Amino acid sequence: MLYELPVFEHADAESVQEAVFWLEKWGDEARVIAGGTDLLCIMKDRLEGPQLKTPKVLINVKHIAEMKRIDHDDESGLRIGAAVTLNQLEASDLIRKRFSILSQAACQIGTTQIRNMGTVGGNLCQRPQCMYFRHPDFPCYKKGGRTCYAVKGEHRYDHSVINYRKCVMAHPSDMAPALIALKADAIIATSNGERKVPLQDFFLAPNDYSETVLKPGEFLVEIQVPDEGSKTNQLFLKHRIRHASDFALASVAVVAEMSKGIVQDIRIVMGGIAPSPYVADGTQEMINGKGLDAKLISRVAKASLEGARPLPLNGYKIDLAKALVKRALELILKQIPQA
Ligand SMILES: Cc1cc2nc3c(=O)[nH]c(=O)nc-3n(C[C@H](O)[C@H](O)[C@H](O)COP(=O)(O)OP(=O)(O)OC[C@H]3O[C@@H](n4cnc5c(N)ncnc54)[C@H](O)[C@@H]3O)c2cc1C
Repeated sequence: MLYELPVFEHADAESVQEAVFWLEKWGDEARVIAGGTDLLCIMKDRLEGPQLKTPKVLINVKHIAEMKRIDHDDESGLRIGAAVTLNQLEASDLIRKRFSILSQAACQIGTTQIRNMGTVGGNLCQRPQCMYFRHPDFPCYKKGGRTCYAVKGEHRYDHSVINYRKCVMAHPSDMAPALIALKADAIIATSNGERKVPLQDFFLAPNDYSETVLKPGEFLVEIQVPDEGSKTNQLFLKHRIRHASDFALASVAVVAEMSKGIVQDIRIVMGGIAPSPYVADGTQEMINGKGLDAKLISRVAKASLEGARPLPLNGYKIDLAKALVKRALELILKQIPQA
């Protein structure tokens, strides 16, 4: 592997419009950079492929004031700038009090150093952790090749058990399941102004070269979370090998709107088990309109990964993810005041 960064130009954008201008001017030679904790590793390792050209120009969005803010009002809800760092998010009093799932997820990401530099936008747009994708000598599907080396190779940790196709990567982001469970939207800057996409639809199907719907020249400006989220019971659980810095083997985000002990609306979203955050849609029907109890929790946990197809070495992830769902629902039940 090579450990030297290639030569590149660097431009500090001071506004969203300026970043859009530079990205348009430089086309596919340019890339957005925020904390650089992921992008610079990819550049050092010279990973190349369709939509993965080593950039000649990096457009830094970390100094754009509107992308560094966390704002909230009861009408428009919560707005998190894409350049807000993971530490800023974790430490925010507002987030801890009203959208605690985001703080719970952020504080379990990487190390203190990664959370100091890494941003919310970068976390959502980070590339796969699959060791074959990350190695310059393996021309895998994501890099335009014809093989997924992980299928017959090492796939115990960073790979999927459900919803995968040609590529079996598992989505690495911890923020994504938590934000999707809160029904967040992504606000994307384009050369024609901004567009809004539900975060659930921001992530692409497994066969794509990219993991997001962002087209060249587009970037994430902010994440919007409806205010209803602040009145819900919220929980994020993650299992990893080393607590110090590891990615999730499986994670679960649960957001439940309750009224008098009855679940009005629940969202269960999982990470680390599928090529994009996995929304356990079927479980909503099982729970909504009912009171949570031990029997229902067991049934829901069992059903939460219906249709999973583990690879030869990662079947344990199915039991792990179901156990996390069960534990999360049990903890949510404990949060609910009993009559
Ligand atoms: C040791 C280590 C441990 C880690 N552990 C975890 C973990 O446990 N859980 C987890 O979720 N993550 C983990 N990560 C990943 C980490 O969270 C990301 O590297 C970080 O959040 C990326 O943010 P950044 O600002 O540094 O992004 P950058 O490195 O600057 O960018 C990453 C990618 O996102 C793009 N990008 C950045 N900002 C935007 C934007 N606003 N719009 C569009 N595209 C954008 C860049 O072009 C690039 O492709 C870990 C990383 C490391 C190195």
